Amino acid sequence: MRRFAKMAADAALQSELQFTHGAVVVRNGKAVGRAACNRYGKGGWEHSVHAEVAALREAGGRRSSSGGTLYVVRVGKDGSLRESHPCPWCLGRMRQLNVHKCIYSTNDGLRCIKI
Ligand SMILES: [Zn+2]
Repeated sequence: MRRFAKMAADAALQSELQFTHGAVVVRNGKAVGRAACNRYGKGGWEHSVHAEVAALREAGGRRSSSGGTLYVVRVGKDGSLRESHPCPWCLGRMRQLNVHKCIYSTNDGLRCIKI
């Protein structure tokens, strides 16, 4: 498994939610954002955030994500790769931030889409 996909898989294992996704934003060969699908906020304002959006947020926005690659990996309970094609909401966010491509896991490996 590629280095950044492995990093995303490690993040996925820290997910608190049923859908265990992890994401890493890579730019110029360096990981600039990393996150899992988790709950954020507290009190009455708790909400879940998709790993892709959380990683893009951690990367710091358009300047740090532009031209970059987003890796998103979903890991099953047995540690195997699962389908993680980004949802329309996350794809839209990637377009807004000018992410160049997305590498995502499937049940039998990794696939790449141009954004
Ligand atoms: Zn999503």
